[in-house]
Amino acid sequence: MKVGEYWKSQQESTIDSNSSVIDSDSVLISSSQEPVYVTVFDIVTKIEMWNQVTGRNFQSNINNNSLDLKNIDKGVYLIEINTQSGGIYRTKILIVASNSHLVFLLNETTINILRTESEYESFVSTDRLKFRLNVIGNINNELLKSIEWNIVGLTENDGNGASMSANAGTFEFNPNPRNRLTNGARIRNLPIRYNLSATLLGLKTEIVITQDEIDILRQEYIDYNYDFKPSREQIYLSENSEWNTGNYSYIAAEANNRFEEIFNAYNEAWVSYCQENNLNSSGLSFGSAYRNPQRNRAVGGSRNSRHARGRALDLTPIGNHGLRGGIWSRIKQVGITLNYDANCDRSGTFVNQNCSSADHIHVQW
Ligand SMILES: [Zn+2]
Repeated sequence: MKVGEYWKSQQESTIDSNSSVIDSDSVLISSSQEPVYVTVFDIVTKIEMWNQVTGRNFQSNINNNSLDLKNIDKGVYLIEINTQSGGIYRTKILIVASNSHLVFLLNETTINILRTESEYESFVSTDRLKFRLNVIGNINNELLKSIEWNIVGLTENDGNGASMSANAGTFEFNPNPRNRLTNGARIRNLPIRYNLSATLLGLKTEIVITQDEIDILRQEYIDYNYDFKPSREQIYLSENSEWNTGNYSYIAAEANNRFEEIFNAYNEAWVSYCQENNLNSSGLSFGSAYRNPQRNRAVGGSRNSRHARGRALDLTPIGNHGLRGGIWSRIKQVGITLNYDANCDRSGTFVNQNCSSADHIHVQW
């Protein structure tokens, strides 16, 4: 039998068992006959005690969840205990005998933190994140009020949570990252990450909440304040060369992902056009397709660019050697015939009035 269980069984025969459950405002009374009992959910490793009248304090390591107090000043003490799980628990006790015995009654309990409002563990900064503490063990609701929640950003730019609220075992907060990157980059952003912990009667549990790659990408649209802010359903896995000229394994598409369909239709029409008109081009290739906001900025694309909304392709002819001026207006015309918004484009600027100066065709839908 563990020490805590031993003392609990001793206690149950002498003390009303309700008194073993306390909250932080309660005061336990010692006498020379009976130990001071403090219920805890974890093994106690250390204690610090402050006499509330004299201010004198001392600390001690704790073995076997108990401590002999010899020749101690009587009075109310604020105690702070440290536990094996890294938890801290503060409460008050009253010592009425100079020789007392302090006993931590170990209540075997398991706790863990669960996300409640989302099937995903990931998030973006505009989400409100909600959690509850799952307690496996028999505790009363009053005790849930004494849960101490703590949220910490894992880098200084992640913030420490905003608009927090805790109520009877639940906890909510808004992510509040700062100094977001909006100067353009060809590499992926790092995830926003938090460590969330909950401590109940000294027992501490914690989880790391982190963005997955889908939400790191979605976060860019928030950081840049795009009109288009993709949902998770608007993010598609797309390895390099599959319409992906961005920084991630994923692309976002405002409507459906139509890259394949539109490229194939355009390419087919272009090949037919070339055959009918005896032009030397075996098809089209694409330059930019999807660009994430950071990449879009890095290459000088405009904010809210169709490329960042998954609705544009930059096309050039394959094997255009020998083709003469007017090629761009011909490719553009093929797109117009297909009802696409096709434009002669020179380095990101439409030059439809002077197509011969274009360097690609920008088609968007
Ligand atoms: Zn373009």
